[in-house]
Amino acid sequence: MSSVTTEKKKIVILGCGFAGLFAARSFANSDYDVTIVDKENYHVFQPLLYQVATSELDPAQIAYPIRSTFRHVENVDFLMAEVTQIDFKNKYVFLDERILYYDAILIALGSVTNDFHTPGADTYCFRLKNLEQAMELRNHILSCFERVEHEPDPVKRKQLLTFTIIGGGPTGVELSGALSELINGPIRKDFPRLDLKEANIVLLQAMDCLLPPFPKRLQEYTQKRLQKKGVDVRLNAMVSEISEHCVSIKDGSMINSGTVIWTAGVKGAPIASQFGVEMGRGGRVLVNEYLQLEEYPEVFVAGDIGLERDPERGVPMVATAAIQQGEHAAKNIRHFFEGSHLEPFAYNNKGSLAVIGRNAAVADVKGSQFTGFLAWILWLTIHLAYLIGFRNRLMVLINWGIDYLLKEKGVRVILPKDMKHIFGWDGVDSSKPDRDTSNE
Ligand SMILES: Cc1cc2nc3c(=O)[nH]c(=O)nc-3n(C[C@H](O)[C@H](O)[C@H](O)COP(=O)(O)OP(=O)(O)OC[C@H]3O[C@@H](n4cnc5c(N)ncnc54)[C@H](O)[C@@H]3O)c2cc1C
Repeated sequence: MSSVTTEKKKIVILGCGFAGLFAARSFANSDYDVTIVDKENYHVFQPLLYQVATSELDPAQIAYPIRSTFRHVENVDFLMAEVTQIDFKNKYVFLDERILYYDAILIALGSVTNDFHTPGADTYCFRLKNLEQAMELRNHILSCFERVEHEPDPVKRKQLLTFTIIGGGPTGVELSGALSELINGPIRKDFPRLDLKEANIVLLQAMDCLLPPFPKRLQEYTQKRLQKKGVDVRLNAMVSEISEHCVSIKDGSMINSGTVIWTAGVKGAPIASQFGVEMGRGGRVLVNEYLQLEEYPEVFVAGDIGLERDPERGVPMVATAAIQQGEHAAKNIRHFFEGSHLEPFAYNNKGSLAVIGRNAAVADVKGSQFTGFLAWILWLTIHLAYLIGFRNRLMVLINWGIDYLLKEKGVRVILPKDMKHIFGWDGVDSSKPDRDTSNE
Protein backbone atom coordinates (compact mmCIF):
# COMPACT_ATOMS: atom_id res chain seq x y z
CA MET A 1 0.00 0.00 0.00
CA SER A 2 1.18 3.49 -0.77
CA SER A 3 1.78 6.08 1.92
CA VAL A 4 -0.14 8.70 -0.07
CA THR A 5 -3.00 9.68 2.20
CA THR A 6 -4.08 13.18 1.18
CA GLU A 7 -5.68 13.59 -2.24
CA LYS A 8 -5.35 10.52 -4.40
CA LYS A 9 -2.73 10.85 -7.13
CA LYS A 10 -4.16 10.61 -10.63
CA ILE A 11 -2.45 8.13 -12.90
CA VAL A 12 -3.43 7.93 -16.54
CA ILE A 13 -2.48 4.86 -18.58
CA LEU A 14 -2.61 5.37 -22.33
CA GLY A 15 -3.31 2.09 -24.15
CA CYS A 16 -4.59 -1.20 -22.79
CA GLY A 17 -2.43 -3.63 -24.70
CA PHE A 18 -0.05 -5.89 -22.79
CA ALA A 19 1.94 -3.08 -21.14
CA GLY A 20 -1.07 -0.94 -20.18
CA LEU A 21 -3.15 -3.86 -18.93
CA PHE A 22 -0.47 -5.31 -16.68
CA ALA A 23 0.46 -1.85 -15.37
CA ALA A 24 -3.17 -1.15 -14.49
CA ARG A 25 -3.45 -4.54 -12.76
CA SER A 26 -0.47 -3.62 -10.59
CA PHE A 27 -2.38 -0.59 -9.32
CA ALA A 28 -5.56 -2.52 -8.52
CA ASN A 29 -6.94 -1.74 -5.04
CA SER A 30 -4.13 0.75 -4.28
CA ASP A 31 -4.47 4.35 -3.13
CA TYR A 32 -4.04 5.68 -6.65
CA ASP A 33 -6.80 6.93 -8.89
CA VAL A 34 -6.14 5.17 -12.22
CA THR A 35 -7.74 5.86 -15.60
CA ILE A 36 -7.00 3.64 -18.58
CA VAL A 37 -7.61 5.18 -22.01
CA ASP A 38 -7.91 3.09 -25.16
CA LYS A 39 -9.56 3.72 -28.51
CA GLU A 40 -10.99 0.20 -28.42
CA ASN A 41 -13.14 -1.17 -25.58
CA TYR A 42 -11.18 -4.42 -25.49
CA HIS A 43 -7.70 -5.79 -24.95
CA VAL A 44 -6.56 -7.90 -27.88
CA PHE A 45 -4.19 -10.86 -27.75
CA GLN A 46 -2.16 -10.04 -30.86
CA PRO A 47 -0.14 -13.29 -31.01
CA LEU A 48 -3.32 -15.11 -32.10
CA LEU A 49 -4.46 -12.60 -34.72
CA TYR A 50 -3.20 -14.90 -37.47
CA GLN A 51 -5.65 -17.57 -36.26
CA VAL A 52 -8.53 -15.11 -36.71
CA ALA A 53 -7.26 -14.31 -40.20
CA THR A 54 -7.14 -18.01 -41.12
CA SER A 55 -10.62 -18.87 -39.75
CA GLU A 56 -9.36 -20.83 -36.74
CA LEU A 57 -10.63 -18.53 -34.00
CA ASP A 58 -13.51 -16.15 -33.58
CA PRO A 59 -12.40 -12.52 -33.01
CA ALA A 60 -14.20 -12.40 -29.64
CA GLN A 61 -12.09 -15.33 -28.41
CA ILE A 62 -8.89 -13.29 -28.47
CA ALA A 63 -10.36 -9.98 -27.30
CA TYR A 64 -11.49 -9.18 -23.79
CA PRO A 65 -13.60 -6.16 -22.68
CA ILE A 66 -11.43 -3.84 -20.62
CA ARG A 67 -14.33 -2.88 -18.36
CA SER A 68 -14.89 -6.53 -17.43
CA THR A 69 -11.26 -6.89 -16.33
CA PHE A 70 -11.62 -4.06 -13.83
CA ARG A 71 -15.29 -4.58 -12.95
CA HIS A 72 -14.53 -5.26 -9.29
CA VAL A 73 -11.67 -2.80 -8.95
CA GLU A 74 -12.87 0.52 -7.57
CA ASN A 75 -9.79 2.63 -8.17
CA VAL A 76 -9.34 1.73 -11.87
CA ASP A 77 -11.57 3.42 -14.42
CA PHE A 78 -11.76 3.01 -18.20
CA LEU A 79 -12.35 5.62 -20.90
CA MET A 80 -12.86 4.61 -24.50
CA ALA A 81 -11.26 7.50 -26.38
CA GLU A 82 -8.51 8.30 -28.83
CA VAL A 83 -5.40 10.04 -27.53
CA THR A 84 -4.57 13.03 -29.72
CA GLN A 85 -1.92 15.01 -27.81
CA ILE A 86 -0.18 15.42 -24.47
CA ASP A 87 0.70 18.72 -22.79
CA PHE A 88 3.67 17.54 -20.73
CA LYS A 89 4.34 20.95 -19.14
CA ASN A 90 0.86 21.31 -17.65
CA LYS A 91 0.18 17.56 -17.29
CA TYR A 92 -2.84 17.24 -19.53
CA VAL A 93 -3.68 14.55 -22.03
CA PHE A 94 -5.98 15.47 -24.91
CA LEU A 95 -8.52 12.91 -26.04
CA ASP A 96 -10.86 13.21 -29.01
CA GLU A 97 -13.65 14.67 -26.86
CA ARG A 98 -12.14 15.61 -23.51
CA ILE A 99 -9.03 16.52 -21.58
CA LEU A 100 -7.63 14.64 -18.57
CA TYR A 101 -5.29 15.92 -15.89
CA TYR A 102 -2.63 13.55 -14.52
CA ASP A 103 -0.05 13.45 -11.75
CA ALA A 104 1.78 10.64 -13.55
CA ILE A 105 1.21 9.11 -16.95
CA LEU A 106 2.18 5.82 -18.60
CA ILE A 107 2.37 5.87 -22.38
CA ALA A 108 1.72 2.34 -23.68
CA LEU A 109 0.23 2.96 -27.11
CA GLY A 110 1.99 0.07 -28.84
CA SER A 111 3.04 -0.12 -32.47
CA VAL A 112 1.78 -0.28 -36.04
CA THR A 113 2.98 -2.11 -39.16
CA ASN A 114 6.20 -0.73 -40.63
CA ASP A 115 6.37 -1.12 -44.41
CA PHE A 116 9.62 0.89 -44.60
CA HIS A 117 8.02 3.14 -47.27
CA THR A 118 8.02 0.33 -49.82
CA PRO A 119 6.14 1.73 -52.83
CA GLY A 120 2.58 0.40 -53.01
CA ALA A 121 2.67 -1.38 -49.64
CA ASP A 122 0.39 1.12 -47.97
CA THR A 123 -2.27 0.77 -50.66
CA TYR A 124 -2.13 -2.89 -51.65
CA CYS A 125 -1.01 -4.88 -48.63
CA PHE A 126 -3.12 -6.42 -45.95
CA ARG A 127 -1.77 -6.00 -42.43
CA LEU A 128 -2.12 -8.02 -39.29
CA LYS A 129 -1.82 -5.69 -36.35
CA ASN A 130 -5.36 -5.47 -35.01
CA LEU A 131 -8.64 -7.34 -34.96
CA GLU A 132 -10.23 -5.35 -37.76
CA GLN A 133 -7.29 -6.10 -40.07
CA ALA A 134 -7.41 -9.81 -39.16
CA MET A 135 -11.11 -9.94 -40.06
CA GLU A 136 -10.55 -8.08 -43.32
CA LEU A 137 -7.92 -10.62 -44.22
CA ARG A 138 -10.12 -13.58 -43.28
CA ASN A 139 -12.99 -12.21 -45.40
CA HIS A 140 -10.67 -11.60 -48.29
CA ILE A 141 -9.07 -15.06 -48.20
CA LEU A 142 -12.46 -16.78 -48.09
CA SER A 143 -13.81 -14.50 -50.84
CA CYS A 144 -10.91 -15.47 -53.12
CA PHE A 145 -12.08 -19.10 -53.11
CA GLU A 146 -15.74 -18.17 -53.60
CA ARG A 147 -14.79 -16.06 -56.61
CA VAL A 148 -12.31 -18.38 -58.22
CA GLU A 149 -14.89 -21.13 -58.50
CA HIS A 150 -16.68 -19.26 -61.27
CA GLU A 151 -13.68 -17.44 -62.73
CA PRO A 152 -12.75 -18.70 -66.22
CA ASP A 153 -9.85 -16.29 -66.90
CA PRO A 154 -6.58 -18.12 -66.00
CA VAL A 155 -4.78 -14.86 -65.15
CA LYS A 156 -7.44 -13.87 -62.65
CA ARG A 157 -7.57 -17.41 -61.28
CA LYS A 158 -3.84 -17.21 -60.62
CA GLN A 159 -4.24 -13.86 -58.89
CA LEU A 160 -7.05 -15.17 -56.71
CA LEU A 161 -5.15 -18.29 -55.69
CA THR A 162 -1.75 -16.75 -55.05
CA PHE A 163 -1.20 -15.56 -51.48
CA THR A 164 2.02 -13.67 -50.87
CA ILE A 165 3.26 -13.12 -47.34
CA ILE A 166 6.07 -10.62 -46.90
CA GLY A 167 8.28 -11.20 -43.87
CA GLY A 168 9.85 -14.41 -42.57
CA GLY A 169 9.60 -13.58 -38.86
CA PRO A 170 7.24 -15.40 -36.47
CA THR A 171 4.07 -13.75 -37.87
CA GLY A 172 4.92 -14.58 -41.50
CA VAL A 173 5.85 -18.16 -40.58
CA GLU A 174 2.76 -18.74 -38.45
CA LEU A 175 0.45 -17.19 -41.02
CA SER A 176 1.81 -19.17 -43.97
CA GLY A 177 1.61 -22.46 -42.02
CA ALA A 178 -1.98 -21.78 -40.94
CA LEU A 179 -3.02 -20.66 -44.41
CA SER A 180 -1.63 -23.87 -45.90
CA GLU A 181 -3.65 -25.91 -43.37
CA LEU A 182 -6.79 -23.90 -44.15
CA ILE A 183 -6.42 -24.49 -47.89
CA ASN A 184 -5.43 -28.14 -47.69
CA GLY A 185 -8.06 -28.96 -45.06
CA PRO A 186 -11.46 -27.27 -44.93
CA ILE A 187 -11.18 -25.36 -48.24
CA ARG A 188 -10.34 -28.58 -50.09
CA LYS A 189 -13.47 -30.20 -48.58
CA ASP A 190 -15.70 -27.17 -49.20
CA PHE A 191 -14.66 -26.70 -52.83
CA PRO A 192 -14.44 -30.21 -54.30
CA ARG A 193 -14.55 -28.88 -57.87
CA LEU A 194 -11.55 -26.58 -57.38
CA ASP A 195 -8.13 -27.79 -58.42
CA LEU A 196 -6.16 -26.60 -55.41
CA LYS A 197 -2.87 -27.45 -57.08
CA GLU A 198 -3.34 -23.98 -58.55
CA ALA A 199 -3.16 -22.45 -55.06
CA ASN A 200 0.17 -21.00 -54.11
CA ILE A 201 1.46 -19.56 -50.83
CA VAL A 202 4.66 -17.57 -51.27
CA LEU A 203 6.66 -16.51 -48.23
CA LEU A 204 9.14 -13.75 -49.06
CA GLN A 205 12.01 -13.13 -46.67
CA ALA A 206 14.57 -10.37 -47.32
CA MET A 207 17.25 -12.12 -45.22
CA ASP A 208 18.95 -15.46 -45.86
CA CYS A 209 16.99 -17.35 -43.17
CA LEU A 210 13.55 -17.53 -41.59
CA LEU A 211 13.03 -16.51 -37.94
CA PRO A 212 16.29 -14.47 -37.71
CA PRO A 213 16.65 -14.41 -33.90
CA PHE A 214 16.30 -18.22 -33.55
CA PRO A 215 19.19 -20.72 -33.58
CA LYS A 216 20.15 -22.06 -37.03
CA ARG A 217 18.81 -25.57 -36.36
CA LEU A 218 15.35 -24.19 -35.59
CA GLN A 219 15.44 -21.91 -38.64
CA GLU A 220 16.23 -24.85 -40.91
CA TYR A 221 13.55 -27.03 -39.30
CA THR A 222 10.99 -24.24 -39.83
CA GLN A 223 11.90 -23.83 -43.49
CA LYS A 224 11.71 -27.58 -44.16
CA ARG A 225 8.35 -27.96 -42.41
CA LEU A 226 6.85 -25.03 -44.30
CA GLN A 227 8.13 -26.37 -47.61
CA LYS A 228 6.60 -29.76 -46.75
CA LYS A 229 3.30 -27.95 -46.31
CA GLY A 230 3.67 -26.61 -49.85
CA VAL A 231 4.76 -23.08 -48.93
CA ASP A 232 7.07 -21.54 -51.52
CA VAL A 233 9.76 -20.08 -49.23
CA ARG A 234 11.98 -17.53 -50.97
CA LEU A 235 14.98 -16.25 -49.05
CA ASN A 236 17.02 -13.14 -49.98
CA ALA A 237 13.84 -11.87 -51.63
CA MET A 238 13.69 -8.16 -50.90
CA VAL A 239 10.42 -6.64 -52.10
CA SER A 240 10.92 -3.43 -54.09
CA GLU A 241 7.35 -2.53 -55.05
CA ILE A 242 3.77 -3.72 -54.81
CA SER A 243 1.12 -2.81 -57.34
CA GLU A 244 -2.52 -3.80 -57.61
CA HIS A 245 -1.86 -7.44 -58.46
CA CYS A 246 1.89 -7.74 -58.55
CA VAL A 247 4.78 -8.00 -56.12
CA SER A 248 8.15 -6.95 -57.54
CA ILE A 249 11.31 -8.35 -56.00
CA LYS A 250 14.71 -6.63 -56.17
CA ASP A 251 16.22 -9.48 -58.26
CA GLY A 252 13.78 -8.55 -61.05
CA SER A 253 11.24 -11.34 -60.51
CA MET A 254 7.54 -10.63 -60.13
CA ILE A 255 4.64 -12.46 -58.51
CA ASN A 256 1.11 -12.14 -59.85
CA SER A 257 -0.81 -12.16 -56.59
CA GLY A 258 -4.27 -10.97 -55.51
CA THR A 259 -3.42 -11.20 -51.82
CA VAL A 260 -0.33 -9.57 -50.40
CA ILE A 261 0.15 -9.51 -46.64
CA TRP A 262 2.83 -7.38 -45.03
CA THR A 263 4.23 -8.83 -41.79
CA ALA A 264 7.80 -7.60 -42.14
CA GLY A 265 8.11 -5.06 -39.36
CA VAL A 266 6.60 -2.78 -36.76
CA LYS A 267 7.23 0.78 -35.63
CA GLY A 268 6.02 2.86 -32.68
CA ALA A 269 2.43 4.17 -32.84
CA PRO A 270 2.62 7.24 -35.14
CA ILE A 271 0.91 9.53 -32.60
CA ALA A 272 4.15 9.45 -30.57
CA SER A 273 5.94 11.59 -33.15
CA GLN A 274 3.47 14.41 -32.40
CA PHE A 275 4.27 14.49 -28.69
CA GLY A 276 7.37 16.64 -29.20
CA VAL A 277 9.63 14.27 -27.23
CA GLU A 278 12.91 12.72 -28.30
CA MET A 279 12.38 9.80 -30.67
CA GLY A 280 14.65 6.82 -31.38
CA ARG A 281 14.81 4.35 -34.24
CA GLY A 282 11.59 2.72 -35.39
CA GLY A 283 9.47 5.71 -34.32
CA ARG A 284 9.83 4.85 -30.63
CA VAL A 285 10.01 7.24 -27.67
CA LEU A 286 13.45 7.35 -26.03
CA VAL A 287 13.44 6.59 -22.31
CA ASN A 288 16.03 6.09 -19.58
CA GLU A 289 16.67 2.80 -17.75
CA TYR A 290 13.74 3.54 -15.41
CA LEU A 291 11.38 3.69 -18.44
CA GLN A 292 10.99 7.42 -17.76
CA LEU A 293 11.34 10.57 -19.86
CA GLU A 294 14.42 12.47 -18.67
CA GLU A 295 12.79 15.89 -19.07
CA TYR A 296 9.45 14.94 -17.47
CA PRO A 297 10.05 12.53 -14.55
CA GLU A 298 6.32 11.84 -14.05
CA VAL A 299 6.07 10.44 -17.59
CA PHE A 300 6.77 6.73 -18.09
CA VAL A 301 6.72 4.67 -21.30
CA ALA A 302 6.30 0.89 -21.65
CA GLY A 303 5.90 -1.72 -24.37
CA ASP A 304 6.49 -1.48 -28.11
CA ILE A 305 6.31 2.33 -28.18
CA GLY A 306 9.32 2.86 -25.90
CA LEU A 307 13.02 2.42 -26.57
CA GLU A 308 15.77 2.62 -23.98
CA ARG A 309 18.33 5.26 -24.81
CA ASP A 310 21.22 2.90 -24.16
CA PRO A 311 21.43 0.69 -27.30
CA GLU A 312 22.92 -2.14 -25.19
CA ARG A 313 19.69 -2.34 -23.21
CA GLY A 314 17.21 -2.63 -26.10
CA VAL A 315 14.45 -5.22 -25.63
CA PRO A 316 12.49 -6.95 -28.42
CA MET A 317 9.03 -5.71 -29.37
CA VAL A 318 7.22 -8.73 -27.93
CA ALA A 319 4.37 -9.28 -25.49
CA THR A 320 6.54 -10.65 -22.67
CA ALA A 321 8.75 -7.54 -22.73
CA ALA A 322 5.67 -5.27 -22.78
CA ILE A 323 4.16 -7.11 -19.79
CA GLN A 324 7.37 -6.86 -17.78
CA GLN A 325 7.81 -3.18 -18.67
CA GLY A 326 4.19 -2.37 -17.79
CA GLU A 327 4.56 -3.94 -14.35
CA HIS A 328 7.96 -2.33 -13.85
CA ALA A 329 6.76 1.14 -14.86
CA ALA A 330 3.87 0.80 -12.38
CA LYS A 331 6.36 -0.07 -9.64
CA ASN A 332 8.53 2.94 -10.51
CA ILE A 333 5.52 5.27 -10.55
CA ARG A 334 4.83 4.20 -6.96
CA HIS A 335 8.50 4.78 -6.03
CA PHE A 336 8.29 8.19 -7.69
CA PHE A 337 5.38 9.30 -5.48
CA GLU A 338 6.80 7.66 -2.37
CA GLY A 339 10.11 9.50 -2.87
CA SER A 340 12.12 6.27 -3.01
CA HIS A 341 14.74 5.28 -5.59
CA LEU A 342 13.51 4.15 -8.98
CA GLU A 343 14.71 0.72 -10.14
CA PRO A 344 16.29 0.16 -13.57
CA PHE A 345 14.32 -2.19 -15.81
CA ALA A 346 15.94 -5.60 -16.45
CA TYR A 347 14.39 -7.76 -19.16
CA ASN A 348 13.99 -11.42 -18.28
CA ASN A 349 14.07 -13.18 -21.65
CA LYS A 350 11.99 -16.31 -21.13
CA GLY A 351 12.65 -17.60 -24.64
CA SER A 352 11.16 -17.52 -28.12
CA LEU A 353 8.48 -19.65 -29.71
CA ALA A 354 6.94 -19.91 -33.14
CA VAL A 355 4.35 -22.34 -34.42
CA ILE A 356 4.47 -23.76 -37.93
CA GLY A 357 1.25 -25.74 -37.80
CA ARG A 358 -0.29 -28.93 -36.50
CA ASN A 359 2.22 -30.75 -34.23
CA ALA A 360 5.03 -28.48 -35.39
CA ALA A 361 6.64 -25.55 -33.63
CA VAL A 362 10.06 -24.33 -32.57
CA ALA A 363 11.05 -23.20 -29.09
CA ASP A 364 14.28 -21.70 -27.83
CA VAL A 365 13.96 -21.57 -24.05
CA LYS A 366 16.94 -20.50 -21.95
CA GLY A 367 19.46 -22.25 -24.21
CA SER A 368 17.37 -25.42 -24.75
CA GLN A 369 15.91 -25.99 -28.19
CA PHE A 370 12.74 -27.91 -28.95
CA THR A 371 11.03 -28.76 -32.21
CA GLY A 372 7.95 -30.70 -33.29
CA PHE A 373 5.21 -31.93 -30.97
CA LEU A 374 6.90 -30.93 -27.70
CA ALA A 375 7.47 -27.36 -28.89
CA TRP A 376 3.92 -27.28 -30.20
CA ILE A 377 2.48 -28.30 -26.80
CA LEU A 378 4.70 -25.68 -25.14
CA TRP A 379 3.43 -23.04 -27.57
CA LEU A 380 -0.24 -23.99 -26.95
CA THR A 381 0.19 -23.97 -23.16
CA ILE A 382 1.95 -20.61 -23.02
CA HIS A 383 -0.52 -18.93 -25.35
CA LEU A 384 -3.47 -20.26 -23.38
CA ALA A 385 -1.91 -19.14 -20.11
CA TYR A 386 -1.42 -15.56 -21.31
CA LEU A 387 -4.84 -15.22 -22.95
CA ILE A 388 -7.00 -12.86 -20.91
CA GLY A 389 -10.29 -14.17 -19.48
CA PHE A 390 -11.31 -17.66 -18.38
CA ARG A 391 -14.12 -17.86 -20.96
CA ASN A 392 -11.71 -17.02 -23.80
CA ARG A 393 -9.23 -19.64 -22.61
CA LEU A 394 -11.94 -22.27 -22.44
CA MET A 395 -13.41 -21.37 -25.84
CA VAL A 396 -9.99 -21.35 -27.51
CA LEU A 397 -9.11 -24.69 -25.93
CA ILE A 398 -12.40 -26.24 -27.15
CA ASN A 399 -11.88 -24.72 -30.60
CA TRP A 400 -8.33 -26.06 -30.87
CA GLY A 401 -9.45 -29.48 -29.62
CA ILE A 402 -12.27 -29.77 -32.18
CA ASP A 403 -10.08 -28.48 -34.99
CA TYR A 404 -7.32 -30.89 -34.04
CA LEU A 405 -9.63 -33.89 -34.06
CA LEU A 406 -11.71 -32.97 -37.12
CA LYS A 407 -9.07 -31.02 -39.10
CA GLU A 408 -11.53 -28.17 -39.38
CA LYS A 409 -11.29 -24.40 -39.06
CA GLY A 410 -14.69 -23.42 -37.84
CA VAL A 411 -14.97 -19.67 -38.48
CA ARG A 412 -15.32 -19.67 -42.26
CA VAL A 413 -17.83 -16.82 -42.50
CA ILE A 414 -17.48 -13.75 -44.69
CA LEU A 415 -18.55 -10.81 -42.56
CA PRO A 416 -18.93 -7.96 -43.46
CA LYS A 417 -19.63 -8.95 -47.05
CA ASP A 418 -18.47 -5.88 -48.93
CA MET A 419 -14.95 -4.91 -47.97
CA LYS A 420 -14.36 -2.32 -50.60
CA HIS A 421 -15.72 0.44 -48.38
CA ILE A 422 -13.19 -0.55 -45.71
CA PHE A 423 -10.14 -1.40 -47.71
CA GLY A 424 -10.77 0.48 -50.97
CA TRP A 425 -9.61 -2.51 -52.99
CA ASP A 426 -10.80 -6.10 -53.21
CA GLY A 427 -7.68 -7.93 -54.29
CA VAL A 428 -8.49 -8.58 -57.93
CA ASP A 429 -7.45 -6.52 -60.89
CA SER A 430 -10.66 -4.59 -61.56
CA SER A 431 -9.20 -2.56 -64.41
CA LYS A 432 -9.56 -5.44 -66.85
CA PRO A 433 -12.15 -4.48 -69.49
CA ASP A 434 -13.96 -7.83 -69.39
CA ARG A 435 -15.19 -7.27 -65.87
CA ASP A 436 -18.91 -6.55 -65.75
CA THR A 437 -19.37 -3.64 -63.37
CA SER A 438 -22.87 -2.64 -64.42
CA ASN A 439 -24.41 -3.98 -61.21
CA GLU A 440 -21.83 -2.59 -58.76
C1 LIG B 1 0.40 -10.79 -35.52
C2 LIG B 1 1.26 -10.61 -34.29
C3 LIG B 1 1.80 -11.72 -33.65
C4 LIG B 1 2.58 -11.58 -32.52
N1 LIG B 1 3.07 -12.69 -31.90
C5 LIG B 1 3.75 -12.57 -30.76
C6 LIG B 1 4.19 -13.71 -30.04
O1 LIG B 1 3.96 -14.85 -30.46
N2 LIG B 1 4.86 -13.53 -28.87
C7 LIG B 1 5.10 -12.29 -28.37
O2 LIG B 1 5.69 -12.17 -27.29
N3 LIG B 1 4.73 -11.18 -29.04
C8 LIG B 1 4.06 -11.28 -30.21
N4 LIG B 1 3.64 -10.16 -30.88
C9 LIG B 1 4.06 -8.83 -30.39
C10 LIG B 1 3.17 -8.36 -29.24
O3 LIG B 1 1.82 -8.56 -29.54
C11 LIG B 1 3.47 -6.89 -28.98
O4 LIG B 1 4.83 -6.77 -28.67
C12 LIG B 1 2.63 -6.38 -27.82
O5 LIG B 1 1.27 -6.38 -28.17
C13 LIG B 1 3.06 -4.98 -27.43
O6 LIG B 1 2.28 -4.58 -26.34
P1 LIG B 1 1.99 -3.03 -26.09
O7 LIG B 1 1.22 -2.96 -24.83
O8 LIG B 1 3.23 -2.26 -26.21
O9 LIG B 1 1.08 -2.58 -27.32
P2 LIG B 1 -0.28 -3.15 -27.87
O10 LIG B 1 -0.55 -4.50 -27.37
O11 LIG B 1 -0.23 -2.93 -29.34
O12 LIG B 1 -1.37 -2.16 -27.24
C14 LIG B 1 -1.45 -0.81 -27.58
C15 LIG B 1 -2.84 -0.32 -27.20
O13 LIG B 1 -2.90 1.08 -27.43
C16 LIG B 1 -4.13 1.42 -28.04
N5 LIG B 1 -3.93 2.65 -28.80
C17 LIG B 1 -3.06 2.87 -29.80
N6 LIG B 1 -3.13 4.14 -30.24
C18 LIG B 1 -4.09 4.74 -29.49
C19 LIG B 1 -4.59 6.08 -29.42
N7 LIG B 1 -4.16 7.07 -30.22
N8 LIG B 1 -5.58 6.34 -28.52
C20 LIG B 1 -6.03 5.37 -27.69
N9 LIG B 1 -5.57 4.11 -27.68
C21 LIG B 1 -4.60 3.80 -28.56
C22 LIG B 1 -4.45 0.22 -28.90
O14 LIG B 1 -5.85 0.13 -29.17
C23 LIG B 1 -3.94 -0.95 -28.04
O15 LIG B 1 -4.94 -1.46 -27.21
C24 LIG B 1 2.85 -10.28 -32.01
C25 LIG B 1 2.32 -9.16 -32.66
C26 LIG B 1 1.53 -9.32 -33.78
C27 LIG B 1 0.94 -8.11 -34.45
